[in-house]
Amino acid sequence: MLFCGDESGDLHEASTFMIDRRVRECALELQDTVLLAKLSAGYLISQEEKYHTTCLINLFELYTESLNMLISWFFALGHLNYARWLPIDVRDMIELDVVTPSTATEFKKGHFAVQQTHHAFSVLAIDHAH
Ligand SMILES: [Zn+2]
Repeated sequence: MLFCGDESGDLHEASTFMIDRRVRECALELQDTVLLAKLSAGYLISQEEKYHTTCLINLFELYTESLNMLISWFFALGHLNYARWLPIDVRDMIELDVVTPSTATEFKKGHFAVQQTHHAFSVLAIDHAH
């Protein structure tokens, strides 16, 4: 099991590359060496990894918290793109349950792509959709 090692309870399969990407971003940001070691073995899909929804949510909450603490550093160090968009991304993550509960539900299932048009194959990662 991806995050906690506990095989009991309701488990979900890592079924998209977007969840793989998002978990890698979180693990790198948090410098979670245990999770990074698991990720170094390959894509989560190919490893047929499973996870508890609560463990995934806990990872994203920790990730959001840590990003929130880093925002002032992006301003201080002159990383303008991150300084401009990171606060918006963090705000979106924090307000997701309230503003768009259906999106929050899908997000918690591991669906991290955003579709801005109805064209096939036109989904974007959330951080590219602003
Ligand atoms: Zn777990």
